[in-house]
Amino acid sequence: MRKDRLTHFKKQLLDKQRQLVDEVGRTALYGKDAEDDSIKDLGDQANTAYTREFFFELGNGDRRILRYVVSALKKIDEGAFGSCERCGEDIPEKRLEALPFARYCIDCQRLVEQEERTAAG
Ligand SMILES: [Zn+2]
Repeated sequence: MRKDRLTHFKKQLLDKQRQLVDEVGRTALYGKDAEDDSIKDLGDQANTAYTREFFFELGNGDRRILRYVVSALKKIDEGAFGSCERCGEDIPEKRLEALPFARYCIDCQRLVEQEERTAAG
């Protein structure tokens, strides 16, 4: 991939990373407010556990994407960005444009999702 394209995707990933970190931070803050209002009678330890669970519920999807974004940024540094983690083929730039943190080409994405469904069901 050309260097200016890499720079472009890197900027997109950094923006996304910042946005997700913000969101996860807000979720944590919101969790704290809910804790103060609704379960203030419980002990400190219970509050902490509740907050952690609440945070996990709300932030799970975002944090998963955040993990993908961080790993995509690492791939840029390692010069491996843009190739499918499963078959090693180049991921089309059109796909990366829509999903800069994509880990697989479309074919492999489909297979991986199929496998996940099989494993879950
Ligand atoms: Zn692939």
